[in-house]
Amino acid sequence: MSDTLFSKIINRDIPADIVYEDELCLAFRDVNPQAPVHILVIPKKPIAMLSDVAEEDQSLLGHLLTTASKIAKQEGFGGAFRLVVNNGEDAGQSVFHLHIHLLAGRSFGWPPG
Ligand code: AMP
Repeated sequence: MSDTLFSKIINRDIPADIVYEDELCLAFRDVNPQAPVHILVIPKKPIAMLSDVAEEDQSLLGHLLTTASKIAKQEGFGGAFRLVVNNGEDAGQSVFHLHIHLLAGRSFGWPPG
């Protein structure tokens, strides 16, 4: 996988508002927030998109979800938040390093746009 914007954030080559980090993942605020809380949770492992994950990534994916839930609680919105994964250009993916959008702090409609 080629170097993406998000691998540059992991390597601290470009700045980001980082809210959480551990050995497996990093979370930082989206530069173009779509809700009062809009945080991206990404694996440090360079996986381009969800459809690229392998069997061996199962626990990593679980870790990303539990981390997103923990961060939602830390931000004060543990009871109501939305997680979004855009997989592929037609689904709205623009950065090809797997990321979970954590959105909170407002009401969300369904179906999503
Ligand atoms: P997606 O369209 O699902 O690939 O989401 C990519 C997200 O990355 C968008 O919500 C962008 O606003 C966000 N983004 C792009 N560049 C940066 C950056 N330098 N720091 C934080 N978020 C970014």
